[in-house]
Amino acid sequence: MPAETHLFRCLSDNYGVLIRDSETGATASIDAPEAGAVEAALKATGWKLTDILVTHHHADHTDGIPALKQKYQCRVVAPQEVTSKYPFVDETVCEGDKVMLGKLAANVIDTPGHTAGHITYWFHNDQIAFVGDTLFSIGCGRVIEGTHEMMWNSLKKLRDLPDETEIFCGHEYTLANIKFAQTIEPNNQALAERAREAAEEVAKKRPTIPTMLGAEKKENPFLRADVPEVAAAVGMAGRPAAEVFGEIRTRKNNFR
Ligand code: ZN
Ligand code: FE
Repeated sequence: MPAETHLFRCLSDNYGVLIRDSETGATASIDAPEAGAVEAALKATGWKLTDILVTHHHADHTDGIPALKQKYQCRVVAPQEVTSKYPFVDETVCEGDKVMLGKLAANVIDTPGHTAGHITYWFHNDQIAFVGDTLFSIGCGRVIEGTHEMMWNSLKKLRDLPDETEIFCGHEYTLANIKFAQTIEPNNQALAERAREAAEEVAKKRPTIPTMLGAEKKENPFLRADVPEVAAAVGMAGRPAAEVFGEIRTRKNNFR
């Protein structure tokens, strides 16, 4: 298995993650929420930072970049929206581009909606996807810069990846997401089982990330807006999936 990953918590509820090509030693930080936390992770693993792969422009994903770039002279790869805001980007990428990390290859997928230029890095051979704030475990990111339709289309692209894909997302929101998801699908048995598992992990102070895409397809209401029972559950039977998605997203925004 040439790809190794190391996940760690930072800021209030962010995840940082390192991915390393064990053959060449090339190591990327996926986003850089906080330079100190990334450096601590490098120290803990003994890995040497060569790249930063950025998913979107928000500060809790980019604030650590300048200090890391200065210290490690690493390559910074990012979507155009980051390039236009910050001077430290070396390579701008978008859908169709391939990013090499040593001998590991990632396909770039445009996943706009949370931000207008958000991208996902899919390491297809390693069955790992870094989805930033587009897809969360049993949730999805807030639609801040795009439309509901745009976000739904991005989520559908991610849903098309193989079931065995490990999803690394930007935040630990799983328990709150499950609480909300159960208001949409109270009788979803797979979701109920996930609720038990996730509560156990959190009680043991373990991360609920990564999550498997195959499970998300069965349990995450935001990937299920085109399932007739889900549309019916929000009183929108027969309506277009993007509208059903919009209704679920709006309910989540107002959920306490
Ligand atoms: Zn964000
Ligand atoms: Fe974020």
